Amino acid sequence: MTEPGRLAGADPLEALAAEWAEEVEGTSYVPMAADELRAHLRELARVVVAAVHADPPRPNVGAAVGRRLVLAHFTGPATVERTVLLLGERMPALYGPRVRAAAHALTGSLAAGYAAALRGRTLDEQEAIRRAVLAARQHTEQALHASEARFRAMFHEAAIGIGLGDVQGRIIDVNPALCAMFGYTAEEFTRRSVVQQMHPDDAPSVWERYERLLRGDIDNFRVEKRFYRADGTEIVVHLTLSLVRDEQGDPAYQVAMLEDVSERHRLQAHMEYQAYHDPLTTLANRARFTERLERVFAEAGPSSTRRVGVCFLDLDGFKTINDSLGHHVGDVMLQEVARRLAACAGEGELVARTGGDEFVVLVEDSHGVDRLVDLADRVLAALEPPFRLVGQELVTGASIGVVEKAVSETTASELMRAADITLYTAKAEGRGRWAVHDPSRDEAETARFTLSAALPAAVAHDEFFVLYQPLVSLADHRIRGVEALVRWQHPRLGVLSPSLFIGPAEETGVIVPLGRRVLEAACRDARDWHAEFGDASPFVSVNVAPRQLHEPGLVAEIAALLDRTGLPADRLQVELTERALTTDEGAPLKALDSLRAMGIKIAVDDFGTGYSNLSYLRRLPVDVIKLDGSFGEGLREEELSDEVDERIVGTLVALGHALDLTVTAEGVETAEQAARLRALGCDEGQGWLFAPALPAGDIAAMLRRGLPLGQS
Ligand code: C2E
Ligand code: MG
Ligand code: MG
Repeated sequence: MTEPGRLAGADPLEALAAEWAEEVEGTSYVPMAADELRAHLRELARVVVAAVHADPPRPNVGAAVGRRLVLAHFTGPATVERTVLLLGERMPALYGPRVRAAAHALTGSLAAGYAAALRGRTLDEQEAIRRAVLAARQHTEQALHASEARFRAMFHEAAIGIGLGDVQGRIIDVNPALCAMFGYTAEEFTRRSVVQQMHPDDAPSVWERYERLLRGDIDNFRVEKRFYRADGTEIVVHLTLSLVRDEQGDPAYQVAMLEDVSERHRLQAHMEYQAYHDPLTTLANRARFTERLERVFAEAGPSSTRRVGVCFLDLDGFKTINDSLGHHVGDVMLQEVARRLAACAGEGELVARTGGDEFVVLVEDSHGVDRLVDLADRVLAALEPPFRLVGQELVTGASIGVVEKAVSETTASELMRAADITLYTAKAEGRGRWAVHDPSRDEAETARFTLSAALPAAVAHDEFFVLYQPLVSLADHRIRGVEALVRWQHPRLGVLSPSLFIGPAEETGVIVPLGRRVLEAACRDARDWHAEFGDASPFVSVNVAPRQLHEPGLVAEIAALLDRTGLPADRLQVELTERALTTDEGAPLKALDSLRAMGIKIAVDDFGTGYSNLSYLRRLPVDVIKLDGSFGEGLREEELSDEVDERIVGTLVALGHALDLTVTAEGVETAEQAARLRALGCDEGQGWLFAPALPAGDIAAMLRRGLPLGQS
């Protein structure tokens, strides 16, 4: 039988909690029934899932979850390891790759919180044992037979190593656990002295405290230190040493309690490594980077002259590679990028991966911006040679934001904000380059930056409207359809073009609610035209972003929308870019098939600009290709006509027609272009020659006039 948690379509939170319970069950002695355990982990899973979905994600919540595991007695070494692995892998699998970075940061923090809490708990437990031994010891001093027997029993059966010594440092008695721990027999032990247990790594203070204890200045102390075993191997031991006094209060014996914590040490080292490293590339992660950067600021006093610099870098076009060739190829590429970056970094430079395709190099002591620029140049050069991955040659560039400042003039968070903005500038200036932070430009850039932050509220306040640009038949220049193009009526900045906000909306997911509104407005307006003009009414073509296509509810939503508005399905077309169509995930294809089965047309937007191979056209349910405007540029004026462009367009049109597709040319600006495109066989055209994007009312007026467009 399938377990409920693994059923497809089950609530991902339930699935995660169930898998978690299954992973950790039996790894710790937890005083809980199976269903209690599951309920407990479900609660923790809820906290963890909320933390990775928060905006921004709150990975530090992991530390609290780690502590709660310890409080609930999940203290077996395997428990935390499996927890970390499970959450790191399953959360991205269940909630999508966008939570991957947050999930990894969170598990790192969880491991660290767990280790800290576990240490605290062990100290408490040892204190309890120490008190018990002392109490028993005092009873034997009073020669109480029964308690002597009890003490003996405890001494012999204790899981913890116990040794008794005199104040001269001779070992008098040891219990079996201690013998097992060190690999000596009790006999061999008693021939040794306490000081023979010194280890070269011991801090001098350890033995100073030991002397003070023997003198009676202190009654006990604790230390974690290394010991050699009989066979020469090393163990790490948590040692509690206590003094037992005689009736006069003078030092009489020393009692040592030893717990072998080597295993825990190894685990802790492993967890610390995990907490501070990116598992994919083994570079330092964001937590390590932030810690180091903050330390630079903490170490430098207010009058310090120390300077610090960062190169903040983001790969260009990585998303395309990841989407079109799959995450596996993307992962291998990131690993190779990490190797090249690490090779660029010198002494005092820390390379970290801070997010998906985001890296940073920290220069802890810089002496001016030149060193940073030099570093940025080296990084760009290192990324230039093509990547040979899975039998293909791929190229990726990077954009770099460079910031270099005196520590006294800024803060760690200001520095990172400046790096962020500067990276954005470098990208805007045309990718594959670095930009150095320029404070005077801050304001304009901050404005652009906040645009993306303002998007969610703008959608909630309905600050968007839709214009329609005619799509005309090149044979008679009459309207066949219109493309819906969204605009943002920004309260301060006026009307903004989609090129400024569609990208950010897609990155942040705001495109989903925004796209829903555009679809709704477009269907309503098209329904009104249909009511007035009947069969002569235009279809409406709506741009749909990849992110929308991956929404499971899209098809049902569109069906409901057509139903609600009464727009016939054949009056609706969706435009998808090549990138959206050629990802290797299965969902879009199913969605496309369903849309097409409803009678909706599918168009490939900006056709010819992607670098995918064209065989997808045969496999996918497509009705229309929209040739990107750049192809028409060479056809603008007759004398200057570019033969290459002409041949390319001719070939693409032939390809489209061979597959029974309608071919639409975008960006038609002149009558010459329109004529040549028609001569080359294009069916429809769109562009300023015919009409710009217009309000719905203007389209209706145009339809009422019924004149051909773009003919003077
Ligand atoms: P697109 O889908 O390729 O839309 C055509 C773009 O070309 C429009 O820019 C249009 O105004 C512009 N254009 C029209 N005629 C001419 C011309 O003769 N010459 C030139 N040079 N350009 C012309 P716009 O409206 O700025 O839209 C830009 C892009 O934003 C669109 O490109 C589309 O990819 C995206 N977009 C617009 N609205 C939406 C939407 O509602 N959802 C989504 N996901 N994307 C949208
Ligand atoms: Mg379009
Ligand atoms: Mg286009």
